[in-house]
Amino acid sequence: MTVYCATSNKGKLKEFQAAAPDFDVRPLPVTMPAPDETGDTFEANAIEKALAYGAHTDEYLFADDSGLEVDALGGAPGVISARYAGEHATDAQNNALLLERLRGEENRTARFVCVIALVKAGRLIQTFRGSVEGRIIDEARGGAGFGYDPLFFHEPFSSTFGEATLEQKMRVSHRGQALERMFAYLRER
Ligand code: IMP
Repeated sequence: MTVYCATSNKGKLKEFQAAAPDFDVRPLPVTMPAPDETGDTFEANAIEKALAYGAHTDEYLFADDSGLEVDALGGAPGVISARYAGEHATDAQNNALLLERLRGEENRTARFVCVIALVKAGRLIQTFRGSVEGRIIDEARGGAGFGYDPLFFHEPFSSTFGEATLEQKMRVSHRGQALERMFAYLRER
């Protein structure tokens, strides 16, 4: 089954395509301005993105909204994870700001959250959520993954997500879980 996805994030696309070998996951072949992501929840933003991109196909299409919630920062950066250090911030700038905000802070617990919204023929079908616990370490470790992965230490791995392979990360990650739930739903259709 072909399922279209809405993302311009290459790190995410790689993970979407690695998640289910029995599905043909493709980026939607249209270029359109990215929706504003004005919602204050991952659900609201995932739905906003999926409906905007889903207006261009009658097939299944999904969009995800994801981010990092840090307990000592009251859940920040949360829905603004991609633009924590500014509208066009790089991963390095976001990571640097995160470390600055956590300087001297002992409580480093955090989680990645991912919500996927699935639409068909422009109508919302369902949302799927996943999350994974970790803690923010003081120095980046590992060159794999993207975003905050090199700072996200996952106890069961005894390493950061930046030091894990794509396959290892997908087995436990927020996005891996949400995708697994969505693909399980689609396999039953
Ligand atoms: P979105 O495109 O609005 O969903 O932004 C997600 C942002 O959250 C990314 O740009 C990263 O900064 C962060 N993020 C989400 N998932 C991950 C992940 O799996 N690893 C590292 N950072 C992530």
